[in-house]
Amino acid sequence: MDAITSRPAAGAGIFRLPAALRQEIEAHARAGYPEEVCGIIAGRADTAMILYRGRNVSPTPRVAYELDVETLIKQIEFEDAGLTLAAIYHSHPTGPETPSTTDIARAFYPDSVYLICSLADPARPVLRGFRIVAGQVWEVMLGEIVT
Ligand SMILES: [Zn+2]
Repeated sequence: MDAITSRPAAGAGIFRLPAALRQEIEAHARAGYPEEVCGIIAGRADTAMILYRGRNVSPTPRVAYELDVETLIKQIEFEDAGLTLAAIYHSHPTGPETPSTTDIARAFYPDSVYLICSLADPARPVLRGFRIVAGQVWEVMLGEIVT
């Protein structure tokens, strides 16, 4: 399947993120400050379901992230259970809440949503979602669902 076909039509991309998972991402981002934190979220199509905190094994964790192998292996387990890699999240301790050039260059999962949590204002974290396909970036609206 051509990865491009999976991108949402303009204005039609909504990723359903339960409030509890949004809070978990923000809590993880705060706990890891001033380094970037990262993790993955299992789910179905456009719905986040289970969050797995990862470890940032980048040699420069204040400005980049690299998921540890142990966390990436979880993908095999939840895919066996019928779920997909719905999202990959990481934090930007000093902002912004948009993908960096490095983030775009290293985005190898066109079917996953990239969630970025900015702590530029630590009291008010900002979370945004994107699809990144072959160097192109589309914002995905985040819709909260009651859990
Ligand atoms: Zn980043």
